[in-house]
Amino acid sequence: MTGLSDSFQRPINYLRVSVTDRCNLRCIYCMPAEGVSLMSHSDVLSYEEIYHVVKAAAELGINKVRLTGGEPLVRAGLPELVRMLASIGTIDDIALTTNGTLLAHHAAELKQAGLQRVNISLDTLNPDKFRHITRCGHLEDTLRGIEAARVAGLDPIKINVVVMAGINDDELPDFAARTVSEGWHVRFIELMPLNGDEPVASRLVSVGDMKRRLNPLGKMEPCRVSVGNGPAKYFRLPDATGTIGFITPVTEHFCYQCNRLRLTADGKLRPCLLSEEEIDLREPLRIGVSSAELKNLIEEAIARKPLGHKLAEGNKHKGRPFSQVGG
Ligand code: SAM
Repeated sequence: MTGLSDSFQRPINYLRVSVTDRCNLRCIYCMPAEGVSLMSHSDVLSYEEIYHVVKAAAELGINKVRLTGGEPLVRAGLPELVRMLASIGTIDDIALTTNGTLLAHHAAELKQAGLQRVNISLDTLNPDKFRHITRCGHLEDTLRGIEAARVAGLDPIKINVVVMAGINDDELPDFAARTVSEGWHVRFIELMPLNGDEPVASRLVSVGDMKRRLNPLGKMEPCRVSVGNGPAKYFRLPDATGTIGFITPVTEHFCYQCNRLRLTADGKLRPCLLSEEEIDLREPLRIGVSSAELKNLIEEAIARKPLGHKLAEGNKHKGRPFSQVGG
């Protein structure tokens, strides 16, 4: 294995794969109420095509893969893809990001196929608010998904909470309390100005404010988590077995440590989530590209990774919806 790095000497070892642009929720900060235009099924990479890309990337040195979307579990047969990726052998971290609503049906099979861990998006513990934020979902489904992941042995389970002023920021202490009572690993994420309907500037809660709200719960000690010490900074409350992480894409971006590439559902390789630059792999895959040529295209994408994004300068991201490029 050679080990990859980009033009800024950042090591690249992580590929996020969007397996579908479709989602069964309509979160207010992620997409407009009317939804977004959908790709046709023939535009979306087959599992076989995804396997070819991941295998070539693995031969270059990628050893972490995360499946995302859209909602990855709305795509039929996801455990089969996990099994194919696990068979590559050198991917030592296979993870999933999901809203959890369908996880209760699939957690055991995913684990058996080789999935190691799961991040579950959950922005509120209140059923009415859940329906408001997701526009159509049921809190109970996601809670059942979290429990099924625990029973299946997916570990760690990280709960991703996008924090919005006036919507769910009052629940920060409730989520933090679950790191003590349930051992949850909770990560609070700053709201990014993407394609949703929310007035982002007035909804953004900085990490400084988040921490102030948690002060009454006790002193938070910095810590590390067992797997996936990515962009989050982690802390632990007294007596907690779980952790609290903060992810700051807006006020304190972490581009300097970006180690990832993204494969969109329609087969474009994205050097950066927030740049529209893409390298098409689907066409080459469909005309029989060799593994060596595929590797050249992957290396080209890495060479094109920008130094950073511009969200902190007040730029709203105007590109393809998050659900298409794999958040
Ligand atoms: N459907 C899956 C899920 O819900 O986790 C995977 C896709 S979703 C786009 C991935 C993550 O992006 C979720 O944790 C979601 O909360 C986050 N996300 C979407 N829009 C965001 C925004 N405007 N700011 C911050 N995070 C956002």
